[in-house]
Amino acid sequence: MSKKDRIFIEIIVGLLLITGAVYFFIKPRRESVWLSGRADVDSGKRVVMGTFARVIGVAADSDTAKRSIEAALAEITRVDELMSDYKEDSEISEVNRDGFERAVKVSEPTYEVLQKAVEFSELTGGAFDVTVGALVDLWRSAEEMNSVPSDAELAEARSRVGYDKLILDSNEMTVRFAAEGMRLDLGGIAKGYAIDRAVEAMQTEGAMGGMIDIGGDIRCFGAPPEGKERWRIGLQDSRAVGGEVGQGQILMVLELTDAAVATSGDYQRFVVIGGQRYSHIIDAESGYSGGELTSVTIIAKGAIEADALATAVSVKGVEGGLALVEQRKEAEAILVTSAPEYELIKSSGAERFIE
Ligand code: ADP
Ligand code: MG
Repeated sequence: MSKKDRIFIEIIVGLLLITGAVYFFIKPRRESVWLSGRADVDSGKRVVMGTFARVIGVAADSDTAKRSIEAALAEITRVDELMSDYKEDSEISEVNRDGFERAVKVSEPTYEVLQKAVEFSELTGGAFDVTVGALVDLWRSAEEMNSVPSDAELAEARSRVGYDKLILDSNEMTVRFAAEGMRLDLGGIAKGYAIDRAVEAMQTEGAMGGMIDIGGDIRCFGAPPEGKERWRIGLQDSRAVGGEVGQGQILMVLELTDAAVATSGDYQRFVVIGGQRYSHIIDAESGYSGGELTSVTIIAKGAIEADALATAVSVKGVEGGLALVEQRKEAEAILVTSAPEYELIKSSGAERFIE
């Protein structure tokens, strides 16, 4: 890589303020129309789901490419409106308010994401758990009071967590809680789900290739950018970040075709209590954050799998996390252990994606 390229990439990384991976073009074009009968269109940075998103559409003509990009962004916005727990009127907020009193009817996307969330809970032995909300809230308020939760507080919150207490009725498409005060938190899966739906929307609009990046969770499909053989994704170096957003260096470049990549980590989103950093990813079993890994990057076929597994491996740590990934033929992991070692660990098949 020339020095100029490297400087350019660093600027892009700095601008994006993303959490994990970053898609980059070496040639930063907004729109390129080629004689060969294809157009590459770049949405540029858009604010969705409380972060930055970027969509690139490749199609036979630029109108189709633009339409596919708008369809992707509309789909992402729809998922966010249904599933955000920050939005009072979202379906997830309704379930969180009323789910113990009554079975709450939800739309097909919300039902589907919850069903998938339970599947990932079963697959990961509960390391991924979408009902972790009560513990997330407890750690947030612990940060405000600057004191670590007591054992009693942790036990109480844990009694309100557990995917086995989430009752899904597929005939009625309803969601219900078996324990009072349970709370869903889709923070570890909604971006991945939104990306997969957005890819479908782009294909329906006629895109022959594309890339969707929501806050560093990325999926690319079909025809890569003109003149390239694969999509190139830069992984941010969590060691250089050290909690300072936008200080990123590139750890490595991944080359992908029809694949997704997601990164979870404690290096940009965490709580600080008494000067000590705690990850925003919590082990539902212990009530604490794992703390063994600074960053977990998962490469998988679909974005929902990459997203959920990245969260699960963060909880499971090096040994359990690698065992989980090795057992999934299509998934690979790139791990960075915590300070001061910052050891780089890759699953057995990861190398084939690394430039
Ligand atoms: P990021 O948001 O940095 O991309 P993740 O995809 O790993 O990272 O999502 C982390 C979020 O998932 C947390 O902020 C919280 O909302 C939620 N979460 C925390 N612990 C768990 C868990 N054990 N299982 C599922 N979701 C979790
Ligand atoms: Mg995740």
